[in-house]
Amino acid sequence: MANKDDKFKKVIAHAKEYGYVFQSSEIYDGLSAVYDYAQNGVELKKNIRDYWWKAMVQMNENIVGIDAAIFMHPTTWKASGHVDAFNDPLIDNKDSKKRYRADVLIEDYCAKIEGKIEKEVKKAAKRFGDAFNKEEFLSTNSRVLGYQENIHRILSRMAKSLEQEDLADVKALIEELGIADPMTGSKNWTDVKQFNLMFGTKLGASADNAMDLYLRPETAQGIFVNFANVQKTGRLKIPFGIAQTGKAFRNEIVARQFIFRMREFEQMEMQFFIKPGTQQKWYEHWKETRMKWHLSLGMGEDNYRFHDHEKLAHYADAAADIEFKFPFGFKELEGIHSRTDFDLKAHQEHSGKKLQFFDPEENKSYVPYVLETSIGLDRMFLAVFSNALIDETLEDGSIRTVLRLPAVLAPVKAAIFPLVKKDGLPDMAREIVEELKWDFNVIYDEKDAVGKRYRRQDAAGTPFCITVDHDTLEDHSVTIRYRDTMAQKRVKINALRDIIKQEVDVKFWLMKM
Ligand code: ATP
Repeated sequence: MANKDDKFKKVIAHAKEYGYVFQSSEIYDGLSAVYDYAQNGVELKKNIRDYWWKAMVQMNENIVGIDAAIFMHPTTWKASGHVDAFNDPLIDNKDSKKRYRADVLIEDYCAKIEGKIEKEVKKAAKRFGDAFNKEEFLSTNSRVLGYQENIHRILSRMAKSLEQEDLADVKALIEELGIADPMTGSKNWTDVKQFNLMFGTKLGASADNAMDLYLRPETAQGIFVNFANVQKTGRLKIPFGIAQTGKAFRNEIVARQFIFRMREFEQMEMQFFIKPGTQQKWYEHWKETRMKWHLSLGMGEDNYRFHDHEKLAHYADAAADIEFKFPFGFKELEGIHSRTDFDLKAHQEHSGKKLQFFDPEENKSYVPYVLETSIGLDRMFLAVFSNALIDETLEDGSIRTVLRLPAVLAPVKAAIFPLVKKDGLPDMAREIVEELKWDFNVIYDEKDAVGKRYRRQDAAGTPFCITVDHDTLEDHSVTIRYRDTMAQKRVKINALRDIIKQEVDVKFWLMKM
């Protein structure tokens, strides 16, 4: 795979070819930044959601789940600050007529400087060999320090200007840095403007008394407005969490990165309600816990990093992203936010209802603080899928395309083949399908030579292939082939369930946390 763009194009093409992700309404030429999950995609997405839900809700006595509606009372969004502050700064290029997010242009500029740092590290690692100490190099090398200082200077100036709504300075920064339209190279920019990302709609039949609503831009507010109901009916004591997965909608200014940035997407969020003053401890706890969840999937420690926010959202007193190395570089995958009591207090004020917790130990009521973990399900899908897709050169020099999905997430766990389409082998294979389908998603395939069927399942991400041959009829044994190693073993049919279960079991994976 020659370069980043090629790799990303290959990911998108593969997602389509193997029934994972399709452009929405493709027969009408699609809809920008809206995608549909196909027969395999829907299973992978469901498995990721389940993996998250089990880790967050099932495994934690003090975290419960809800499923709030997408429509919410419009005052919700006034209270949350979304009506006034859920904006992105946009800028147009006058020559190309292309629209960009001003902050993203500046961040991408800094990412290029990061790239230079990475190059210096690689060069030095080569020069020093085993004696190379990356940490030390990063903190002492004068060129690297210069780059870091530059990044810091640019990002803090941007953060300050955005916070003070000084959009003229954001434009000035873009001009000073000489940032050009990435598509055309033109530097002929308009002024920077704010753009609200919420989609509006109407509730009610007649035009006169229809109510203006928004499609929720995040799932979190559904949790805040249900805080008191869940706390009371669940008799929950602080600290406790409420988790939710569901659709969110944002009218993104630029959405050109497949399912990384969509206009309709799904979030998996958890709000953890805590005693005021304990937020630092819980912030560290959830940063660490969420990183462990990611690492449990075995997608490579080097592919993750934390990024602390320079610019804090209006509700936060600390925030960090877990970034993942996507085909187009390190980008946000999940956010961990210390949201203080901003949301509950605001809803209390706007609704006139008490959103407090009576702490029996302290013998007083207070508005709890909130620690939030928020991950995009589609972004996680892209992380898993793009990381799994590999072109592997085999010993004989041929190339094998394999989708090394973590077995726990794979849409289909096993494909069962009769070696040939006769002599009773298809019946035997179908019997195995009938037995295994109670526990796993399995499929039957008899088309083409076995070698070709193996390759098809490798590319589709199926961890096991099971082949029934003539000996099977005599000894009730089959050949099981492992996707990643291509190793083959002869095993009894009645051992299949346990062999597969061991590798696809959520417990086996989550125990690594
Ligand atoms: P970004 O800076 O990339 O726009 P954000 O900081 O606005 O993201 P949050 O509001 O913190 O994102 O949302 C939490 C998570 O939801 C993100 O980490 C991301 O995984 C996911 N997410 C946000 N916007 C989108 C989108 N348009 N498409 C897909 N996933 C998204």
